Amino acid sequence: MPSVDADLPTPHFTFDADAPGACVAGIRPYRCGSYRLEAEAVSGRFVVHNYGHGGAGITLSWGCAAKVQDLVRARVAASHETEAAVLGSGVMGLTAATLLLDLGLTVTIYADRMFADTTSHKAGGQWALSLVEYHGNESELKDILAKAYNTFKSSIGQNFGVYERPNYASKVSHNLEEVLRIAPGLIPRRKDLPRMPFHGHHNAGHLYQTLLVEPPTFLKRLADDLNTRGVRFVQCKFADQAHLFSTVTQKVIVNCTGYGAKKLWNDPAMHAIRGDLAMLPPQPSLQYLYSQGGYMFPRTDHVVIGGTFECSENEQPDKAECKKLVRAIAMNFGLAPPMAIPENYIQHPRISEWLKQRRLAPADTPCTPPCTPPP
Ligand SMILES: Cc1cc2nc3c(=O)[nH]c(=O)nc-3n(C[C@H](O)[C@H](O)[C@H](O)COP(=O)(O)OP(=O)(O)OC[C@H]3O[C@@H](n4cnc5c(N)ncnc54)[C@H](O)[C@@H]3O)c2cc1C
Repeated sequence: MPSVDADLPTPHFTFDADAPGACVAGIRPYRCGSYRLEAEAVSGRFVVHNYGHGGAGITLSWGCAAKVQDLVRARVAASHETEAAVLGSGVMGLTAATLLLDLGLTVTIYADRMFADTTSHKAGGQWALSLVEYHGNESELKDILAKAYNTFKSSIGQNFGVYERPNYASKVSHNLEEVLRIAPGLIPRRKDLPRMPFHGHHNAGHLYQTLLVEPPTFLKRLADDLNTRGVRFVQCKFADQAHLFSTVTQKVIVNCTGYGAKKLWNDPAMHAIRGDLAMLPPQPSLQYLYSQGGYMFPRTDHVVIGGTFECSENEQPDKAECKKLVRAIAMNFGLAPPMAIPENYIQHPRISEWLKQRRLAPADTPCTPPCTPPP
């Protein structure tokens, strides 16, 4: 853990919302009850589902891919199939494909969007259990967290875009406390701070040590490695399962279609939870993650500011929302006028209370995410 005596560098909040790529919106593939990670037989195929990881898909990716690998290994040991199809070229598809290659299978990836256009590419990249349900799966989740964390950690310094970072949070982070509870000893315990060590801050806070995974670097590296290892990428949007089974010939199919599974697999538990991100120019002096109101993840490509929650499938960036996100963080540093935490921020009491209730609710509790009231 770093020393917390002196104030850490203050960010520059100069933000041009009109600059290309300055504003991004993505859909978290939220699945009520739990993410889906299981095999089923459909139309004579062995289908392994791996979708519905909400705001934690990057975090869980390597661990879920290892579970997919276990399921497929057991299947091909008996059936002697030599090929597998992976649906989806986001983080779940690319990590699963990587571990299927390690089984000696010939892998083809079918996807509507290639990696640079996926939700995965837009993610902020903190390693945390954010906005995901896992009712009834805690012992499996413990394995997934350990495999994912250890794989990311061992890839630090090897051009996967993974870094270890302190995270300064004004409130206890349930996303990281859950990791401490489910997988004790995996990440260092939090340190409570009498004061957040930043200009303009007088409030207490908490220090966690976690990982930052930069999705553009990570996904490109995975895709490059898969290309080098002979994986074929096929651009294709499956309208429905009939289209899928008439196009894909492989008997083993791994379904990593993220929010697309709602329609393709008729899954009513899937909900679109939009998040907006403001992408500021990079500031290499900022070597910490920060969370108060919204969050700020300084990466090598951008300083990413986010933290909104909306029930919407709309991926059109909203410049006003991005400006508000920047202002909300700048305000904490005394660099913007005061404002209340907006209703659609994850840290707004309305949303955090709903998330807390979902965590405590039994698996089969009906769930409808709280939608942003009309303006
Ligand atoms: C604003 C925001 C911030 C986030 N921050 C973080 C974070 O800090 N940490 C973290 O761990 N996670 C974060 N996430 C969550 C993370 O981005 C997702 O959980 C993750 O991207 C899901 O990966 P995926 O591979 O399942 O889906 P996707 O990346 O959406 O990929 C799905 C793939 O399936 C394909 N597909 C879907 N339907 C079809 C079809 N019918 N036919 C053919 N192809 C199809 C798509 O084209 C695509 O290739 C964030 C998400 C958002 C929106």
